[in-house]
Amino acid sequence: MKVWAVANQKGGVGKTTSTVALAGLLADQGQRVLVVDLDPHGSMTSYFGHDPDQLTSSVFNLFQHQGSVPDGLAEALLLTTSHDGISLLPSSTSLATLERQSATQGGFGLVLSRALEQLQGEFDFVIIDSPPLLGVSMINALAACQRLIVPVQTEFLALKGLERMIHTLTMVNRSRRRALPYTIVPTLFDRRTQASLSTLRKLRNDYAEQMWQAYIPIDTKLRDASLAGVVPSQLEPNARGVLAYRALLRYLLVQSVARSEETA
Ligand code: ADP
Ligand code: MG
Repeated sequence: MKVWAVANQKGGVGKTTSTVALAGLLADQGQRVLVVDLDPHGSMTSYFGHDPDQLTSSVFNLFQHQGSVPDGLAEALLLTTSHDGISLLPSSTSLATLERQSATQGGFGLVLSRALEQLQGEFDFVIIDSPPLLGVSMINALAACQRLIVPVQTEFLALKGLERMIHTLTMVNRSRRRALPYTIVPTLFDRRTQASLSTLRKLRNDYAEQMWQAYIPIDTKLRDASLAGVVPSQLEPNARGVLAYRALLRYLLVQSVARSEETA
């Protein structure tokens, strides 16, 4: 089971869109996919047709057992989605209260990892969508995944957010004593703007190793898919945005194979 987390401490950079687009493409290929919504706003939960204000059980329930996860709990919290092959571990607004607690307290940082262990064998891929803040959820996402995907909006202020994210990652790496591989994904690219062009240039220059060399363009079809509540590849398989996510997925799969060969 491969576990990827999508994170950036900045909002509106395409985290949820990337999670849903990649999950949809994997499911289209017949993979069994679980998406985990760790954002208290629950945008991905809404995307898949569930109301985060109404849900009485959610990923939050995993955190109510002093850091341990009772047998069968993770399974019990899963919801189906309108997309074949995608299951959802939903968020609810109660998740916001979690952020007031400390991740270090009682093994709180490993709750999601423990929950996913219980789901081994049930899914081929898990993709975790996280909130734009450094807190218990983010720590759990980083601890549970084998690769971090960092969408970065190609805009002037984006690089600050990226630096902050990398700083967080460095701290987490220090405590887990291994470097989590990550991939920077330029998003919302608009070739007509100087901001997009110069940010992309700077990213390629400063993060050559960790960069996916292409980019996700601005594509209103991605927004349409979110309004329609369907994964982008089902709405418009040949939209520019979908083609870009397909290329990104190919890249990530190659990276993850290369990586397991390394550790084998
Ligand atoms: P985040 O999860 O990082 O807050 P979202 O994925 O929710 O960001 O994206 C923020 C907004 O931008 C959403 O309305 C989404 O539909 C839109 N969006 C994301 N990526 C693109 C894109 N490549 N082209 C056009 N709109 C996009
Ligand atoms: Mg989001």
